[in-house]
Amino acid sequence: MEFKPAKCPNCGGNLQVPPDLKTAKCMYCGTNFLIEQAIKLAGVKINLDNLFILADTARDTSNYKEAYNYYTRILEVDSDNYKAWYGKAISAGWQSTPDNLRLQEAVKGIEIAISKTPNDKIEFLKKEASADLNNLANANFKLAFKNIFNNMNEENYRKFIRFSKYIVSTFELSFKYDPNDKKILDNIIHVIKTYTTIFTSQGKSFSLSNRILKEEERYLLQTKERIKQLDPNYLKKPKHLNTRYISIGNIIFISVIFILIGLFVWFQNH
Ligand SMILES: [Zn+2]
Repeated sequence: MEFKPAKCPNCGGNLQVPPDLKTAKCMYCGTNFLIEQAIKLAGVKINLDNLFILADTARDTSNYKEAYNYYTRILEVDSDNYKAWYGKAISAGWQSTPDNLRLQEAVKGIEIAISKTPNDKIEFLKKEASADLNNLANANFKLAFKNIFNNMNEENYRKFIRFSKYIVSTFELSFKYDPNDKKILDNIIHVIKTYTTIFTSQGKSFSLSNRILKEEERYLLQTKERIKQLDPNYLKKPKHLNTRYISIGNIIFISVIFILIGLFVWFQNH
């Protein structure tokens, strides 16, 4: 008898079934299923596996537009697939250009992916999401900065400020997913320092109001405190470390001299 690959509609178990029968019983969960339906399901699965290979390869070789399209096709068949949501989100984020920043789309997609991730995989995915969000926010901030530098006007300045705040909230999300990574907090400080500077262009200057600047200053200090909690040596000047190092060296050196003098005196008297 000829057998065909099939997939149990109840538990997803991989089966081999005789196609000329109408129904069969799943060897994993004991459910009776329609053979025709189970064979169709296996076909979809093979198709999805192939699409994943194409999508992941495109993503790994930085062909984000192509990867984005493959992940979209996977989601059309399997709308709860967290890996496809994640891949689509990342591929959107890396397609950003100075006048079409797609960070928001990436952040939303990653949040959907995490909400659909099975419990035993969620810690791993959060760690990955943290690193990806951090990289995407950095890259998108550079693009936004380039954009404002090329055409400085009131409207673009306001857009830049709004987007910078979104960048900061993305870093905060990245930090939420990996609360031990202090370089994310360093990035927040870098972004705040950048957008709170006064920009000048053709005799016109652009800056935030004093009230907002004070708020940002407070946020900056809080962020530094959070880094200090992770790394007690943060902000200590290396000079202090050097003098301490030298003084320990001196103490050892002086001790050795005293021991030598002591030995010399002892030998003289014996
Ligand atoms: Zn089953």
